[in-house]
Amino acid sequence: MSNATSGGPGRLAGNGAVAARAPAKVNVHLGVGPLRPDGFHELQTVFMAVSLFDTVTVRPAEGISLAVRGEGTDTGRGPASVPADRRNLVWQAAELLARHAGVPAEAHLEIDKTIAAAAGLAGGSADAAAALVALDALWGTRATRGDLAGLAAQLGSDVPFSLLGGVALGTGRGERLSPVLARRRWDWVLGIAGEGLSTPTVYAELDELRAAGALPDGEVPASTEPVIAALRSGPVTALAAALGNDLQAPALRLRPELRRAMRAATEAGARAPLVSGSGPTVAALADDEDAAVRLAAELAGAGVFRTVRAVHGPVHGARLVG
Ligand code: ATP
Repeated sequence: MSNATSGGPGRLAGNGAVAARAPAKVNVHLGVGPLRPDGFHELQTVFMAVSLFDTVTVRPAEGISLAVRGEGTDTGRGPASVPADRRNLVWQAAELLARHAGVPAEAHLEIDKTIAAAAGLAGGSADAAAALVALDALWGTRATRGDLAGLAAQLGSDVPFSLLGGVALGTGRGERLSPVLARRRWDWVLGIAGEGLSTPTVYAELDELRAAGALPDGEVPASTEPVIAALRSGPVTALAAALGNDLQAPALRLRPELRRAMRAATEAGARAPLVSGSGPTVAALADDEDAAVRLAAELAGAGVFRTVRAVHGPVHGARLVG
């Protein structure tokens, strides 16, 4: 994956900038196994990339600098929860790729966020994947897709999927991927309910509920087969019936308003609303695009969601734009 020639895709005329974008994800199935000795859980998950994108623009500079705009930042509508320093995954992606390629880590990085932060939509992972693709082009490092996938896995469990996109089965921490065939377009409505939820907190709550015997221990994970079969052949009712997320119960316990949001989605006619990843996003499958737009309008009026978006999937992973 490389595009170092001027004027190629992603290279914006004139100022030497390169832009890439990467999608949010919904976990249509998220099976969480027991806690591993390394502190991670063994996952069996099916990801779908959906049409909500963050864009990362990179340009030549001395050293690394970073600006963040949009959803989840001071200038956006959400809370200011996205760091604009070394803690940002985009900054870490730049340092990692530079080290890997043996080039100086020098670029000004800009993130335009549409994906709400800490919402269970893998926004930070999308930014990291987009940064890898954009910087590979800016620096002419000529990393292969395999190289980038290896670097992505070092940055975070969801980053390899943000790079790949489409629909994929994820095992291990979610970083070992096999593509899944999805024959049709799926329409979703995403409703973000309240402030961000920390992913480690939701996993810790799951462990506590399991230790207390309030939930099954996860030794025997639910099969991913029904969801994969439904994705292969439709109809919407089959996928709706197969959706599942082991993090839903702990997220609902941590956030009573998320429970209200799920109820509001059901009352608005959503089929099998689901908490996306660690929440607090509610993902509702719709029959088609028109139904998604109607449901989104209904949910926006319900007064329990911070943001509501009609999206569709699967869409491509991180790639150059422009
Ligand atoms: P997960 O991938 O675990 O489901 P999430 O989608 O719920 O995560 P993210 O939007 O990826 O959440 O952000 C989680 C945290 O990561 C944020 O609270 C923030 O502190 C940190 N972070 C680092 N880099 C970024 C980034 N580029 N965008 C958003 N958050 C980032």
